[in-house]
Amino acid sequence: MAICWKCRAVVPEGEECCSNCGCRIGGFDNPGKDNELIKKLNEYRLLLDEYEYIVSTVKPQDNFPQEEEQTAFKKRSFFRYFWPFLVIAAAVSYGVGILSNLLLTFRKDITSLLLGALLCIIADVAIIVFGYKVAKRKQAENNHTAETMSSIAQERYNLGLANKKKIDRLAVLEEKKAKLDPLVPEGFRDFDHVAKIQELIMQNKASTIEEACALIKA
Ligand SMILES: [Zn+2]
Repeated sequence: MAICWKCRAVVPEGEECCSNCGCRIGGFDNPGKDNELIKKLNEYRLLLDEYEYIVSTVKPQDNFPQEEEQTAFKKRSFFRYFWPFLVIAAAVSYGVGILSNLLLTFRKDITSLLLGALLCIIADVAIIVFGYKVAKRKQAENNHTAETMSSIAQERYNLGLANKKKIDRLAVLEEKKAKLDPLVPEGFRDFDHVAKIQELIMQNKASTIEEACALIKA
């Protein structure tokens, strides 16, 4: 697969001409190996291609987090949600214990103690089973949110890193561009114009850049 040097259309492997604009694809690989002017124009055009792409996609770096963000949502342990139920179970045991002791004092009957113990076991098992389910569900909900939030934060941070690379690359390209800009007159320093100039010279319709520019203007 190649990219058309002139119109940037994708050209399938083996095709000699671009199906979009019809120009010869060979012009992309080795344009003007014996012609310094075409070589320079080609270099400038490739630079403009990358430069214009970056300019159109780069964003201000403040749009992104400057360092890896910590979200307010953290993963939590199961016990963090479960311990209140243990406290409730203990309180219930304690309450039932006091009640059955009171009954024992008034009725002097050992069955109230046994009844109290039974009640205690049933209540505690119920509380613990219920608490286990609730704590599991709450922990799962919390950890799911925490994972989602942290992956969103991570993604934003990674986008920021990629954007920073574009900004750095842009600085390099701007320096190179400043050196090559004088090659063509002002108003022609963009990909489409330079491609057109290169094409006119490669087709021998113009022999200098000035001639090509005059042809484009006409
Ligand atoms: Zn093309």
